[in-house]
Amino acid sequence: MNTENLEYLSPEDWRQWHTELLQSTLNRVYQRVPFYRECFEKRNLLPEDLKAPEDLARFPTTTREDLSAHYPYELFAVPLRDIVRLRAFPWWPNPIVKGYTLQDVENLKKLCVRFLTTCGLRAEDILFIALEPGMGAWIEEIREAAETVGAAVIPPAPRTPEVSLRILKDFRASVLVTTPSLALRYLKVCEKRGLSLPESLRLLILVGEGIRPSERALLEEFFGAETRLGYGIAEVLGPGMAYECGAREGLHLATDYLFPEVIDPETGNYSPEGELVLTTLRVRANPLLRFLTGDRVKITWEPCACGRTTPRLLAIEAGSGRVLSFRGIKVPRAVLEGLLEKTYGCKPRYTLKVVGEEPESELLVEIVMTNELFRPSIVELHEEAHRFERAFFEFFGLPCRVKWVEG
Ligand SMILES: [Zn+2]
Repeated sequence: MNTENLEYLSPEDWRQWHTELLQSTLNRVYQRVPFYRECFEKRNLLPEDLKAPEDLARFPTTTREDLSAHYPYELFAVPLRDIVRLRAFPWWPNPIVKGYTLQDVENLKKLCVRFLTTCGLRAEDILFIALEPGMGAWIEEIREAAETVGAAVIPPAPRTPEVSLRILKDFRASVLVTTPSLALRYLKVCEKRGLSLPESLRLLILVGEGIRPSERALLEEFFGAETRLGYGIAEVLGPGMAYECGAREGLHLATDYLFPEVIDPETGNYSPEGELVLTTLRVRANPLLRFLTGDRVKITWEPCACGRTTPRLLAIEAGSGRVLSFRGIKVPRAVLEGLLEKTYGCKPRYTLKVVGEEPESELLVEIVMTNELFRPSIVELHEEAHRFERAFFEFFGLPCRVKWVEG
């Protein structure tokens, strides 16, 4: 098997690759992570019960709640002295902690380099990264990978869209990595202020959230640049997990690093459309077994015009209802509900609405007024609402607004 060019393996070689790596991952978590060992024992399973990739369906899944419950280091498969990087992601009641060995960091960089170069990044490019501070892990990975490619990187900083647009133009940036929301915000600012566009820009790499085809066409026409899409989950591997090739017909999933399953969330059975479930294949510090991503996808194993044989994600809908994607940041309902409970001492009924036009949108939390939540003074109600809004901002770096509604 040619392991240099894994994206082009034959179906038989993929099967062999996945069987071997899944067996080694199962062994690893069974030997080193007590949480997984207990899960295996409850089901009377041993790592060697996996003889082929489809046997994975018998093994236990991992949720974000599991990761939060074993805060901070209980799911690590290596001793702390082997960890060279640590990250925390917002969750409730505890953050989700990820550790990385030196080899993990190197692998992630390789993966991100492949993502950016497949999208078209070259050594002579000047790359401008415009991402919200809540996407810190993305910023770091993309920056390191782009520098490895040899591109000149302009990392994000707190600045207004006007200043960003000026820098894009004056620095003659050729590639912009951003979220669809921010790209649309730039477009609006240009239109409103009559600013001229940076003509040097040839490529927009859009990450963090989905985009409608009409919005994508609008961005391409306005900026006179090609767009490519990237998909990743920081708690799993980060950027570079899936990306578009030149054919732009779905995002190639990095199945040399991940084993994907797509399940019907109702029945748990395999389905071409459903929740994406991922098992890491080469992660040393924090291997994940059948991680429920919460993202709804449609997957195809049909060959792609580009020749890669990795499966493609044709549609990605973040959250499956459990996570709301807002301005590129994932807002898990579990966290939001935890913050509400902390503020009000109970679990109010609520609905979430993203209001306003996409780039300047705002998250509205409509809480149903009940006797339990009622306060005799309006001042007290306001104070509580502000406390929640502040806590939300501290967690996600994004604004939200509480509105009371009748039940
Ligand atoms: Zn392709």
